[in-house]
Amino acid sequence: MNPELIAPRVDSRRAKLAGRAAEQIIADVIELGWPVGHVLGSETELLERYGVSRAVLREAIRLVEHQHVARMRRGTGGGLVIDEPDVDAVIGPTVIYLLRVGATLDETFDTRILLEELVAEIASQRVSEADITTIRRTLEREFNGDSPNYRLLHVQLATLTANPVLELFVTTFSRVGDFYFSDVGALTSDVEQEARRAHDSIARAILTNNPGLARERMQRHLRAEADFIRRQPATVQRLDPTVALAGTLRDKRGEALARQIFTEIVTSEATPGTFIGSEASLMEKYTASRAVVREAIRILEYHQIALARRGPGGGLFVTEPDVSALADIIAIYLRRRGVKIRHIAELRTGLELAVIERAAATLRSGGSAAEKLEQALRAEAEQGMGLAFGHGEDLHSVLAGLTGNRALQLVHRVTMRLGWLFFSQFAADDERVGAIERSLPSTVGPAHRGIVDALIAGDAELAVMRMRAHMSATSPGAL
Ligand SMILES: [Zn+2]
Ligand SMILES: [Zn+2]
Repeated sequence: MNPELIAPRVDSRRAKLAGRAAEQIIADVIELGWPVGHVLGSETELLERYGVSRAVLREAIRLVEHQHVARMRRGTGGGLVIDEPDVDAVIGPTVIYLLRVGATLDETFDTRILLEELVAEIASQRVSEADITTIRRTLEREFNGDSPNYRLLHVQLATLTANPVLELFVTTFSRVGDFYFSDVGALTSDVEQEARRAHDSIARAILTNNPGLARERMQRHLRAEADFIRRQPATVQRLDPTVALAGTLRDKRGEALARQIFTEIVTSEATPGTFIGSEASLMEKYTASRAVVREAIRILEYHQIALARRGPGGGLFVTEPDVSALADIIAIYLRRRGVKIRHIAELRTGLELAVIERAAATLRSGGSAAEKLEQALRAEAEQGMGLAFGHGEDLHSVLAGLTGNRALQLVHRVTMRLGWLFFSQFAADDERVGAIERSLPSTVGPAHRGIVDALIAGDAELAVMRMRAHMSATSPGAL
């Protein structure tokens, strides 16, 4: 049953106004140069500045608090204080999404490996003399057994790419991996010694500017680590919501209730459209006040887990998983980190090449893959690129779907969405971006056709080559 047909969304006008006020607050924070600790204003001052009702403002504040942009401080000298968005603001929503789509350990690891292969490749090209010292010191500490963390080298290499998008995803997936395997104590000295050797050889390839070799060694190292973790008794293929959600939502009662309802949705594998309950029935079932239930609903709506609809047949319904809320949070985090279009384009190219290789393998095994590709081209021609992407029916989204890897699809879709977000924003004030944008409709169609033809003909190498050419033709290189 499609809840779209049953009843209008509760308070949609207020939600929209709150969303707009939140955007305005974030724009002001950026405009000010993101001075962490600075007070934007008291509630009274903010009411006046943004010209909204108290209810709308409070909801907007909850949104910016959730995104770690600012938080309300009570008392004298209180008000909305500018905060530092950290990687935790991104990890929680990522875990929620992976839980919703039921991504497995294998999918998460495969995604981490391809991200770090990209890190190895880019780091080999960017490494400078100053970095030599840092890397050598880390290897030395590992050799002496006093490294603070066995992933230190990985973190440093990600920093070397000078690409905040790649860095963020590497950190996120490295942390998400821990939810499948938390028993780091199980790492034996044999494993550690093996990792040290691997780190040594990866570092050597990077310091001698050998991207191909660095990639290969990184892949081998992480595959070995993944194999080891897979064999451990404490390892699970599927995330356990109670473990994974601990810490993603704070312990306020509304958040705790949201977590409980979400856990039940995941455990019962409820499909989109499933009715969860009316406000009254939820209050009774969880013996919670109306305020707590509403707060929980707000959070579930914010993470696109469920949607409340009013009127007869109304109540709370499970929604289709969607990455747009996560992409918005990531966009805010990255803006704070000074992201440029070229960073997004760089990751995008790496992802598309990884995607097309995996999609080509799916095509070789037959099935309806070829038909899906033709369908994507038709959707793009009929709906236009923007709409087709919005529906996940464009060629790139369909290719990502063919990989069968939901974690990879998440990274891919978020990166594409970031591309659209930043591209349209920069296009407005940079003529060079505008020129690229205007040339897209005439070049993208034929390029997509060529990629599909190569895939259907079973020529993976040609498909990869055409994808690479397509990416560099559409990427705003130096911006
Ligand atoms: Zn390692
Ligand atoms: Zn394309």
